[in-house]
Amino acid sequence: MDELIEEAARIILGSKLTLALTGAGISVESGIPDFRSRGGLWDRFDPEEYGTIYAFRKDPEKVWKMLKEMEDTLDRARPNEAHVGLAELESMGLLQCVSTQNVDNLHQEAGSRDVIEYHGNSRSLTCLWCNRKHDYKEKKGEYPPRCTCGKILKPDVIFFGETIPFEAMERSSQLASTCQALLIVGTSALVSPFNILPRQAKQAGAKIIEINLERTVLTDHITDIFLQGKASEKVSQVVSAVKELRGL
Ligand code: NAD
Repeated sequence: MDELIEEAARIILGSKLTLALTGAGISVESGIPDFRSRGGLWDRFDPEEYGTIYAFRKDPEKVWKMLKEMEDTLDRARPNEAHVGLAELESMGLLQCVSTQNVDNLHQEAGSRDVIEYHGNSRSLTCLWCNRKHDYKEKKGEYPPRCTCGKILKPDVIFFGETIPFEAMERSSQLASTCQALLIVGTSALVSPFNILPRQAKQAGAKIIEINLERTVLTDHITDIFLQGKASEKVSQVVSAVKELRGL
């Protein structure tokens, strides 16, 4: 067994409360590009121009061109082994919660039950004018989708410039400051305020395990164990090591 993988598995086995933080990188192998991938959505649609609430309010029709592509990509995506591995850890009682920046629903599809959607989700839409909520299935195929009041709807994903849902922020923060182990998968940790959570956990004495293809701003100062590689491979290896050490 790889030494670092074994160490990560031992930390998880010895922890009374483990939290996972995930970002776009965990879903790349499911076919959803992250902000950095060449040729991905964000190469063609500048997040500054398409990802802010100001852009949406100014020209929702234009932003829906990007949202439609995003919706098509999300529709095709299926959970990969990293999502499944985290769900397995939860079912073994070794992971209390996943707090994700992703809006793709893949943790839930993989079987995770306790998922905090820090940046909202893409399965419902809200009218910014009359506040009416709509299920995304009800509006599927309608571009741009409109509310019964006639205005263009916004998906319940958090755009840059919007406030994080209070409960998601509070609960993530509370878990980060009380967990004994923190597993961080596929995030550049550049988006605030989500990127405060690893620091909170570190300050509270948690052991930090980071999985990423590349080193990040966390790797040198926050991370205790850095597992460099694809999320699907590294999460699966950790889950297998946990099972082996448990004698399963
Ligand atoms: P990011 O794009 O800034 O960073 C992605 C990170 O994942 C990078 O550090 C990269 O090295 C790593 N990575 C890429 N492929 C990987 C793989 N196969 N295995 C392991 N690591 C891999 O993403 P972020 O930190 O989540 O922040 C971007 C914002 O964009 C978030 O707010 C998120 O909500 C949003 N976003 C979400 C989705 C989604 O829902 N799937 C997709 C794109 C962007």
